[in-house]
Amino acid sequence: LLLLAFSLTAYAQKGKNAKKTQTREEFVTELMGKMTIDEKISQLVQFTADGTVTGPKAGVNYIDEIKKGNVGSILNATGVKYTRELQKMNLDNSRLKIPLLFGYDVIHGYKTIFPISLGEAATWDTDAVALSARVAAEETAASGVHWTFAPMVDITRDPRWGRVSEGSGEDTYLGVQLAIARVKGFQGTNLNDLNTILACTKHFAAYGAAEAGRDYNTVDMSERVLRETYLPPFQATVDAGVATFMTSFNEIAGVPATANKFLLRDVLKGEWGFDGFVVTDYTAINELIPHGVAKDSIHAGELALKAGVDMDMVGAVYLKFLKKSLQEGNVTEAQINDACRRILNAKYDLGLFEDPYRYNDDKREKQTIYKKEYLDAALHVANESMVLLKNENSVLPLNKNQKVAFVGPLVSDEWNIIGSWAATGDRYGYATSVEEGVMEVANNKNVTFDKGVEILKNDRSMMAKAIESARNADVIVAVMGEFENMTGEAASRSSIDLPGIQKEFLAELKKLNKPIVLVLLNGRPLTLEWENENMDAILEAWYPGTRGGAAIAQTLYGINNPSGKLPMTFPRNVGQVPIYYNHKNTGRPYLGPTDPEQKYKSRYTDVDNSPLYPFGYGLSYTTFDYSNLKLSANQINFNDTLKISVEVSNTGNYDGEEVVQLYIKDNVGTVTRPVKELKGFKKVALKKGEKKTVEFEISSNDLRFYNIDMDFVAEPGDFEVFVGGSSTTETKDKFVLVR
Ligand code: BGC
Repeated sequence: LLLLAFSLTAYAQKGKNAKKTQTREEFVTELMGKMTIDEKISQLVQFTADGTVTGPKAGVNYIDEIKKGNVGSILNATGVKYTRELQKMNLDNSRLKIPLLFGYDVIHGYKTIFPISLGEAATWDTDAVALSARVAAEETAASGVHWTFAPMVDITRDPRWGRVSEGSGEDTYLGVQLAIARVKGFQGTNLNDLNTILACTKHFAAYGAAEAGRDYNTVDMSERVLRETYLPPFQATVDAGVATFMTSFNEIAGVPATANKFLLRDVLKGEWGFDGFVVTDYTAINELIPHGVAKDSIHAGELALKAGVDMDMVGAVYLKFLKKSLQEGNVTEAQINDACRRILNAKYDLGLFEDPYRYNDDKREKQTIYKKEYLDAALHVANESMVLLKNENSVLPLNKNQKVAFVGPLVSDEWNIIGSWAATGDRYGYATSVEEGVMEVANNKNVTFDKGVEILKNDRSMMAKAIESARNADVIVAVMGEFENMTGEAASRSSIDLPGIQKEFLAELKKLNKPIVLVLLNGRPLTLEWENENMDAILEAWYPGTRGGAAIAQTLYGINNPSGKLPMTFPRNVGQVPIYYNHKNTGRPYLGPTDPEQKYKSRYTDVDNSPLYPFGYGLSYTTFDYSNLKLSANQINFNDTLKISVEVSNTGNYDGEEVVQLYIKDNVGTVTRPVKELKGFKKVALKKGEKKTVEFEISSNDLRFYNIDMDFVAEPGDFEVFVGGSSTTETKDKFVLVR
């Protein structure tokens, strides 16, 4: 009885909080029951707070619209104070007190910036990538922001496309693993946890396949390639519970993604059962007009809603026209309700209805940003992302007694090293330049720093001084690359070489007859044939982020042994693009220069057919040896699991990490199959002299593809297995799959 009395009091004390026993569905249904159609439509509206008048020709200002209760979400507002101000403005004017959702592009860190996504992909380390996303989520959530527009999971096979820097590279399997890691990092296991944020898988879909690598360009591909190569990372994030999706700017086979019912309603929300909401990319509904599928804005909005777009980013089309479309019978109330419900669900999951200010804690913001452990995590991931492309005569690692001339436009740089999409990450002050990184680890007296040249200016006036420093050194380290804004959105390049007069400067340095190490800061595969011929060592450092300079220095001086592997093929020249490891054979495959019939084969006559550096490639200061590749059986059936094991030994002089890669080739199919495909990888640490057995498991599920009837199945037959430290490994065995 006492217990009953106690619980009754507790119930009474909770008062109207008793509602908390409602499920999300009951809560949202009750709320929507009170909403007018205008209030519902306002939930579908997102504006930007970046200070500009919102939407081209939209004639609206986000502050006015918030005050009118017309907005469901704001992007580009950050910081506890500002988001609190906007939230208050909204709640003061919202009849039903529906909170605003704040979104932002947190791509590779919020304040503490990690390597660009392509650099993170080069770690081949799902824990490192998840850690980066978790740190980003903690800093973002502590700053009043609820939602990031990441991960970008577009498969990218064309390095001319500027946005390859934002993705995980060319491979579907690697892309799937990293997409899952990022969603888990951002969202954690419970969105109500104040250290998590909503993730947004983008750009749906096939944005990375733009013709000629030109941003926003046309995409046309078979449904087989779309489903097999481009869609799996998207689907994997749905399975991992991602809360939101973003449409892409491009068309696919004549239908813009933002008006694409097949993609959004049939595949995403239908087949895959996605129950989150879909936001457009920036003004993508308005862009249906220049695409040529909508005659005006009202028509564009109808196409988008019907296709399955829930939220209109910045374009103000839903706000201005959706009600009219409803009145004219061109869209249904059920369609508007469905979109509204999905958005309210997300707000509910974040706990915003309980307390719209729960992400607005000034003290927490101060304590969270740039925590030491975050900076250490950024350094760790940057170290893991370094890819050693060449190291002739072991010129690396350097030792502190050597006199080293550090030269090049990026040697003291704190801007480009952060990369594009840096959220609120400081480019000055907090960013560690290479010079500062070297000062952390090396003897100051033995090092000099000179720019020599700029990336984008043809100014030769500083060259002589840098060459003088180099003349007095034992080793030259040239820190060069692309200017940060040469990659990213709307930053495609038709040539992908080391830009400006950097190569000319390297040629001058070469005349000094000293070992030269080239350190590259860039956001895409570059064409480096000349550099590969003429430099002694090349370290691909991407844009490594806030602690990037420290990671570079630690790698150069051997405190970190590089273990990154390329997530994207580096071509010899741009004419080879697109070039990727998992291509198909032709009926006349080129087997190499010793092939007597080679002149009839599918090959270029003016360049070697191979890439300069293949997918999966990357050196270490130590060496690894693969032996004893073993399969648990030579024949498996559809229910069996095949165990594949290999012994990996560290045969060199340093402790190190190796990314052990498993590739499979399906020899005969009802449709043609790639020459090999990545099916597993493991990053293993091996002490000098140590040997480890690395195991993989494969079943018929891993061998599925879209067959001649477009069924996703494995087909019986012969398979080849390759294991090694790069996609070109020749360590192989074979097995048969039988019914
Ligand atoms: C980009 C998206 C980004 C959005 C919001 C667009 O231009 O394509 O990737 O999330 O802007 O900033």
